[in-house]
Amino acid sequence: MYNVAIVVDDKCVAKKGCRLCIMYCPEPDCIMLNAEKMVAEVILHRCKGCELCVVVCDAAKHFALEMKAVGGDGKLLEEAGESADLGSAYQ
Ligand code: SF4
Ligand code: SF4
Repeated sequence: MYNVAIVVDDKCVAKKGCRLCIMYCPEPDCIMLNAEKMVAEVILHRCKGCELCVVVCDAAKHFALEMKAVGGDGKLLEEAGESADLGSAYQ
């Protein structure tokens, strides 16, 4: 199990020109602009879980990125119907 960043579409202001997470993510081609939805989108299998994108998004008061747990199959645990209880993930 590991953590990846996920964009909360409703909070993302990429349509207003924000690209902070895309600029600051240290992984190439990891956060991209979804030009159809005009929101940032994390390419899950490229995310290393460093949380830098969360820091810059929160610093800009957008709060549009969250860290979520992913299972060994690379799928979000929430989508797999499992609880993504991050606190217990490290116990
Ligand atoms: S920094 Fe936040 S608000 Fe800006 S594009 Fe990224 S997810 Fe969207
Ligand atoms: S957690 Fe790190 S690697 Fe993953 S999208 Fe955010 S900045 Fe990129």
